[in-house]
Amino acid sequence: MDFGLKGKRAVVLAASRGLGYACALGLAREGCDLVITSRSQDHIDEAAEKIRAETGVRVIGVAADVSREDGVNAPVQRCIEEFGGVDIAVHNAGGPPAGGFENVNTEQWYKAFDQNLMSFVWLSQAVLGPMKAAGWGRIIAITSSSIKQPIPNLVLSNAMRTGILGTVRTMIKEVTPAGVTVNVVAPGRIATERIDELDHAAAKRSGKAVEEVKAESQASIPAGRLGTPEEFANVVVFLASEAASYVSGATIQIDGGKLDALQ
Ligand code: NAD
Repeated sequence: MDFGLKGKRAVVLAASRGLGYACALGLAREGCDLVITSRSQDHIDEAAEKIRAETGVRVIGVAADVSREDGVNAPVQRCIEEFGGVDIAVHNAGGPPAGGFENVNTEQWYKAFDQNLMSFVWLSQAVLGPMKAAGWGRIIAITSSSIKQPIPNLVLSNAMRTGILGTVRTMIKEVTPAGVTVNVVAPGRIATERIDELDHAAAKRSGKAVEEVKAESQASIPAGRLGTPEEFANVVVFLASEAASYVSGATIQIDGGKLDALQ
């Protein structure tokens, strides 16, 4: 299938590693030019260089914090200045800290609000003008399976990511007529460094061996294993493509069959 992505210009937030990096690489393999971000210039330069070396596309690394409005606007402006426009925006951010309702404080609520919900709003605000003017655009939000089935002890993720979903379901009525699709992807358990760090933390907390924690986690997934970042990125690349022109407002879980939720 021709994804029709050659020469498209994409901004991918929080992309020095993990899911954001995999999405950036997947888009680059299809010929997109990229602006990618993370808070550390060194880390994002390293990621940009790896993608450039493998694919030959143009990649600009911008050091910017997604929990600030200027940190989201800057890469979009850079994309427009350097590449002449922006066609694709992939929203990603670091996950909020764990905690149940009774052990998360007001400061943590506001931080997660900026980092995980407002960053999506700011990104969409920044790209919609140029995308609508061009009559073509793709906005994709990376969330979590928690938007379909809340995860115990992760109230901030459960709350902020469903906020994105409500925002997207409202936006599509306004922007899809102008040729801009907006979709949500919901990872279950994809093998990134973050997941590895969480498994180590869980092992330490429970006194179990890391291997045991990982085996339990895998056993809970019908596919019998964690997903790879590339498997995750394949779905994002499809949603970004011309081939997904009639998909807007969808939430696609990428979880090897793990979720029990009906919708
Ligand atoms: P990760 O920790 O491996 O990568 C996060 C990326 O975000 C890194 O590049 C980091 O530099 C960047 N980042 C973090 N905070 C930032 C900030 N304030 N500004 C700019 N960049 C920032 O995480 P991941 O596993 O790739 O997950 C990405 C997102 O998907 C997270 O929100 C995570 O909670 C969510 N998620 C992941 C999984 C999974 O299976 N990996 C499952 C559910 C949800």
